[in-house]
Amino acid sequence: MRVGQVGEFGLIDMLAKNLATPPSPVIVGIGDDAAVWRWSRKTSIATTDTLVENVHFRLYFTTWYDLGWKCIAVNLSDIAAMGGIPNYALVTIGLSRDMEAESVGEMYRGMADISQQFGTTIIGGDTVSSPLGVFVSATVFGEATDDDEPPKLMLRSKARVGDRVCVTGFLGSSAAGLELLMREQKLDPHIAAVLLQAHLRPIPRLREGQELAASGVEAGMDISDGLVGDLQKMCKLSGVGARILLDSLPIHEVTRRVFPARCVDFALYGGEDYELLFCASNDVVAATRRAFEAKGLAPITIIGEVVAGPVGEVTLLTEDGAELKASRGGYDHFAEGTRR
Ligand code: ADP
Ligand code: MG
Repeated sequence: MRVGQVGEFGLIDMLAKNLATPPSPVIVGIGDDAAVWRWSRKTSIATTDTLVENVHFRLYFTTWYDLGWKCIAVNLSDIAAMGGIPNYALVTIGLSRDMEAESVGEMYRGMADISQQFGTTIIGGDTVSSPLGVFVSATVFGEATDDDEPPKLMLRSKARVGDRVCVTGFLGSSAAGLELLMREQKLDPHIAAVLLQAHLRPIPRLREGQELAASGVEAGMDISDGLVGDLQKMCKLSGVGARILLDSLPIHEVTRRVFPARCVDFALYGGEDYELLFCASNDVVAATRRAFEAKGLAPITIIGEVVAGPVGEVTLLTEDGAELKASRGGYDHFAEGTRR
């Protein structure tokens, strides 16, 4: 069967089945935002993510600085999704011979700035030629905020029936930013900046993730492939379903104003928001909301609840209580008609 027929996640499942079962120090293997293992009474975390030219970015509207920033940001977001602290990164770049060396330097300035801002150091990598397009890949290592066994971390498999479904920040801003870039739509720069920054220079929710894990939130992930698709993954791994109230989605007023007809679609399916999606009891959510406010962290919005089933399904509820089944899942690299 071809990769396009199996799909990105079917392929990962297939590959994972043929690998040896990880040894006992591995707490989390394939399937979550990052891998986790215990070593010398410490909990280590590692994740890797790659950006490919004309799949994840287009050089005609992405600066080299932004590309460097985003490559590290998306990896840090996976560490945030676990509730971990990042510390080191390895970076691999694929370049063509005729590229300007200064551009690579600019990309590294973006990487260095975000790394420094979030306490990460680039300690190595690899440089290869890639005649058909630029790619940049990072692997980030980190650790849990405590040495407990089990450590306080957020996993995709821990959503429980009755939990509130919550997100940090705004949804759909990145998809709106991408749309502006593709259309080359000119807006007031202050208005556009909100959406462009969300798409080109996302901020990983590291402090938020650490605070959530420390306050006892056990179920969480980051939203990289779209809210619905990512929530479906969390539900599947937790053996539950979820209901989302469409009216509760936190959509930035700029997104609503510029894309009134499409903003809900962007929030549900857009992807690349790099906000955190988590599930916890009402009491835990109320306490974490207060803690977030006191510490000046991103806002938390309750968008729905975890239900018994159907397992892996996300139901969308309109204001008048009508149920809509999610029209599609999240971004799949090998699905037909993918736009990126
Ligand atoms: P995320 O969107 O959080 O980066 P992915 O959807 O990329 O997560 O990956 C889901 C899970 O599958 C992760 O645990 C990741 O490590 C694993 N994975 C992805 N591709 C491969 C691969 N080629 N081989 C082994 N594991 C993989
Ligand atoms: Mg992730």
